[in-house]
Amino acid sequence: MSTRVIVWGEFLQEKSQPEVAAIYPDGMHETIAAALRREPDFTVDTACLGQPEHGMSRERLAATDVLVWWGHRAHAEIPDEIVDRLQGRVLEGMGLIVLHSGHYSKIFTRLMGTSCSLKWRVSGDRERLWNTAPKHPITAGIGDHFDLPAEEMYGEPFDVPAPDEVIFISWFSGGEVFRSGATWQRGRGRVFYFRPGHETHPTYHDANVQRVIANAIRWAGPDATRRPRRSRPAFHG
Ligand code: ZN
Repeated sequence: MSTRVIVWGEFLQEKSQPEVAAIYPDGMHETIAAALRREPDFTVDTACLGQPEHGMSRERLAATDVLVWWGHRAHAEIPDEIVDRLQGRVLEGMGLIVLHSGHYSKIFTRLMGTSCSLKWRVSGDRERLWNTAPKHPITAGIGDHFDLPAEEMYGEPFDVPAPDEVIFISWFSGGEVFRSGATWQRGRGRVFYFRPGHETHPTYHDANVQRVIANAIRWAGPDATRRPRRSRPAFHG
């Protein structure tokens, strides 16, 4: 059976910043979705900010197996009622892949229960993503590392609860490190955070990044036999 995927994109900076539009003329969400549509076992649709119910009606979410989320400027514009709806679907078993600046999205901070803050620096640093879980389904087909020639820097500490699994650790040419791929389970739902994807870099055209997102969707899909889990207590220093 096909995995039903929605790629949600804020789709604001592509319309207001020419340097972003040059890389993602149809929007970042459409670039991400175009790569996923090459996977024969996925049915892929997109949604964005400003559509009725921001593209996340109850009916539509009920028919979604995995939601992929990229947001940056407009996290606050998602009404709490829709965040409640998303959280409910994750607890029921919908997978959630949160990308890059989505670390501050309402749904991710809600599911984590922490600030989800991190260090960051506007940069064109080289990023090397080390594969710390070589037998995990999310790293299928990925070598011991891959590089992105230019990315924004995110650094530790990343204020999230201890992940179930750390899938990637990034090193930046400026010296910082970051848990760039991490998993959690909430209720019956699987959550994967994946760091790369600053809007002024062509990161979602990268074959390794596309592969990780596709692998993560397969891993995060619902499984009616999965036992629900309560969140671990967050550890704050
Ligand atoms: Zn960014």
